[in-house]
Amino acid sequence: MFCKIAGGQIPARKVHEDDEILAFHDINPARPVHLLVIPRRHITSLATATEADVPVLGRMLAIANRLASEQGSPDGFRVIINTGRIGHQEVQHLHAHIVGGPEPVGPMLKRI
Ligand code: AMP
Repeated sequence: MFCKIAGGQIPARKVHEDDEILAFHDINPARPVHLLVIPRRHITSLATATEADVPVLGRMLAIANRLASEQGSPDGFRVIINTGRIGHQEVQHLHAHIVGGPEPVGPMLKRI
């Protein structure tokens, strides 16, 4: 589905676009700032990424940093990459969640 957003067949509220990376607002935001940063080229998950993907993964983080500030989370933010069944990944196209806003986002995980 994120390939369709990258290809323009599904609309998204884009905040960044270049030849290899796209960023847009999450459709169901969990915090006041909730962006998704994806590689245009299909990578299913972080578990299937390889050494060849290191440059695009690095750029995704650099873009996340800039966008968090620009989009309303200048004092910090959290990057989450859910991976596979254990990581509760729902969309099978690698994506980094950038979450933040004016207030701290809370503990990283609910303890079980
Ligand atoms: P994950 O559980 O890490 O795979 O998260 C998938 C995320 O994608 C969720 O936060 C969804 O709200 C978000 N999402 C699903 N479809 C869309 C869409 N069409 N546009 C923007 N965000 C989406």
